[in-house]
Amino acid sequence: MWRDYKKRHDSDFKIQNLEEKINIIIDQNSNEFRNKVALQEKISRYDNLKNSIEKISQNLTLDSVADILVTVSFSLVSNNKGVCILYLIDSSTHKPTLFKTRKEDKNLIIKTKEGDMFDLWVLKHTSPLLIEDTRKDFRFDLEKMKVHEERTVSSLISSPLISDSKFLGILRLDNSQAGSYMQHDLRLLATICDFGALALENSELFQKTQELAIRDGLTALYTKGYFLDRLKEECKRSVRQNEALSLLMLDIDYFKNYNDKFGHTAGDIVLRSLSQNISSFLEEHTPVISRFGGEEFCIILPRIGKNKACTIAEQLRARIENTKIILRRQKTHISVSIGVASCPADASEEEQLIYKADRAMYEAKQKGRNLVVMA
Ligand code: GH3
Ligand code: MG
Ligand code: MG
Repeated sequence: MWRDYKKRHDSDFKIQNLEEKINIIIDQNSNEFRNKVALQEKISRYDNLKNSIEKISQNLTLDSVADILVTVSFSLVSNNKGVCILYLIDSSTHKPTLFKTRKEDKNLIIKTKEGDMFDLWVLKHTSPLLIEDTRKDFRFDLEKMKVHEERTVSSLISSPLISDSKFLGILRLDNSQAGSYMQHDLRLLATICDFGALALENSELFQKTQELAIRDGLTALYTKGYFLDRLKEECKRSVRQNEALSLLMLDIDYFKNYNDKFGHTAGDIVLRSLSQNISSFLEEHTPVISRFGGEEFCIILPRIGKNKACTIAEQLRARIENTKIILRRQKTHISVSIGVASCPADASEEEQLIYKADRAMYEAKQKGRNLVVMA
């Protein structure tokens, strides 16, 4: 009897023990399963990240690099939820400037084009920022924020884009719900920013090199080659959209005499100051200005007809004549002869337009110089 009882008790105890062990194993199993899923997610995130790094190294324009950065951050880190903003630091104002966004709600308008207090915090501290709940974060006064932005920002992660200790921009993700981001999300965003900053800097260098190739070294105006390409495009657009376009051909009068009298270096100064004069005077008309030859300039005035172009050319001629130039402590001035031709009044394609403007300019020379002549 006692032996039977003892036997039963022992086996009950063993069963209980086994059940406990089974529970522990089930628990471990489900933990491991969770870990496995998390690990797979991590692997897939980093796989996607690797692909993006490869993609970004093939994309050299600023715009395409920026595009990849916001797309990758928005999808990989944020699961395409909330908002992703890329700010670039304006090199003249040193302020963040909104450059690209991705939004879950396509109709959402982001009003803070120069960043809000969170972005300014990242800029000031040059370090990443994680806010789980903006209402509970004592570092920020939400009342100040409401004045500028109508949308709700309850949680966010933000990371600076720094290359060679140069602050290039800020990449930020935010959401109207609190607790949308965790520390590992910020780590991933910071990794994206690490390679992003390098790619951004390369693209800026690339863009500068491109700019150098199309800019004249002395005056920084467009070179003849680039100008001719643009003129071709602008002529086509003018015909397609049935809009006028004017071309000014401008040549300095008796420039050889200035070189002879004041020297070639002084002549270069004149060319540079004339270029600035032309650019600032025509700025409002969004012109395309080129140094066409030595002391000859060619200007496209998009969407401007012949009569208006002649008025503008006459004002420009008078302004140049009245601009004092000091060379070797002597006051002097230059004058220019300008030929004007327009699309569609004089031509429908670029070669003929140049020919007509050039002929008009030579007519101005023949008629005594310091004149504007219409084709
Ligand atoms: P015109 O009124 O008939 O145009 O007379 P011009 O003396 O301006 O014309 P010409 O074509 O005989 O001479 C152009 C001069 O422009 C020749 C050259 O000394 C000068 N020139 C051309 N390119 C440069 C440059 O890059 N720097 C300087 N300093 N002078 C230049
Ligand atoms: Mg000349
Ligand atoms: Mg000339």
